Amino acid sequence: MQGALLFELSFLLVPLAVGSGLWLSGASPAWVWPLALLPYLARNLYYMHRLAILIRRHHRLAPPFPRGLWGELYRSIARYQQRGRKSRKRQIRFSRRFREAANAVPDALVILDKQLRVDWANPAAARLMNIRWPEDDERRFTELLTNSDLEHFIEAGDYMRPLDIAPAHNRAIMLSLRITPFGERKKQRLVVGRDITKIYHLNMIRRDFVANASHELRTPLTVIAGFLEPLIEAPITPDSHRRPLSLMFHQTERMCSIIEDLLTLSRLEMHDSPDAQTVVDVPDELHLILQEAQALSNGQHQFETRIEDDLLLVGNQPELRSGFSNLVFNAVKHTPPGSKISICWRCEAEGALFSVEDNGPGIAQVHLPRLTERFYRVDGARSRDSGGTGLGLAIVKHVLNRHDARLWVSSEVGKGTVFYCRFPPKRGISPRPE
Ligand code: ADP
Repeated sequence: MQGALLFELSFLLVPLAVGSGLWLSGASPAWVWPLALLPYLARNLYYMHRLAILIRRHHRLAPPFPRGLWGELYRSIARYQQRGRKSRKRQIRFSRRFREAANAVPDALVILDKQLRVDWANPAAARLMNIRWPEDDERRFTELLTNSDLEHFIEAGDYMRPLDIAPAHNRAIMLSLRITPFGERKKQRLVVGRDITKIYHLNMIRRDFVANASHELRTPLTVIAGFLEPLIEAPITPDSHRRPLSLMFHQTERMCSIIEDLLTLSRLEMHDSPDAQTVVDVPDELHLILQEAQALSNGQHQFETRIEDDLLLVGNQPELRSGFSNLVFNAVKHTPPGSKISICWRCEAEGALFSVEDNGPGIAQVHLPRLTERFYRVDGARSRDSGGTGLGLAIVKHVLNRHDARLWVSSEVGKGTVFYCRFPPKRGISPRPE
């Protein structure tokens, strides 16, 4: 840099000094003096003009570079250009690799802008969602993938759970759609569509099998129970037969309860949301459940209620009744005589909350995540003795899912258990309409 500056100064000062010397010695007229600057100005003009042209035409600056400060400037710009070229190449390589990876993904990927118009889609989106990119660029997503559930799903904006749909362009496939907002202020959305046709059909086969088998078993079991009950007390029955008959009757009853619960679960699995939704008088239902729980407890438990009589809920009455009663009856069945059970129904900012608290034996933390699995019991033998089917909490979970509600449990061994059900604010109605 120093050398370049010295070169520049010498290029400027030497002609100046010569011109001044000639003028001072009287050997030349005065105008010779500024004339000495002409080569310097011409050189600057030439390199400036050349640089302007090279930059305007996006030409690459290559050696040989001029000497002096212009050379430094040319060299710096050439280095800057090289860095830019390298980073552009890296970006192109990265975006090509990203596109190749996205194209190889078997799931449909679609990026939507804030107006829900298609911004980009991978090839799998054509097969699974009927969206072709770039042909469908800027077209509305819901015009291309038509489904009434999808419109509601997008409008609701609750993307925690996936949406399963059979797309209109190909009813033979089943798609699980997940939407993830991203980008500036989360206005853009990434839609991932996974083909779950096989899993869905297997699930349907399992569900139909359970429903059909339960249905087929119900009638013979009812007939057996119907004959066994009078036989236990009949005078013709020898005394030695009464106990085995009574055991047979109780086991048949137990099987009938399991079959009923399996049928309830199958019914709940049929559709994602309840068919008949009305305004349910939850306080009224809870008072009835309380009476049944007191009968089940046979006066051996203390009950306490904190129920907001003005708080109603939009939902399906039989389903909600079944969900709430399972939790209250569990508190009776799985706690020893003398235990205290509190039932609470109240309105909170986050939505209506139902809870059942007991001071029974509690449940160890390891069991909590598995409680809602079918036939999962903390203490198998004790649960069966108390008449449990092992399906109660699975039913509760399904009922709550269908009402957009959440179930969680808080428990401590030796202290007791609390089951909470939180409903979204849009489902609560308070105060009670006239
Ligand atoms: P069950 O028909 O056996 O009650 P559930 O699915 O309703 O089946 O409950 C699963 C298991 O969770 C029960 O077997 C029991 O061990 C445990 N459980 C449920 N509620 C309580 C409670 N309030 N206190 C202690 N354990 C409970």
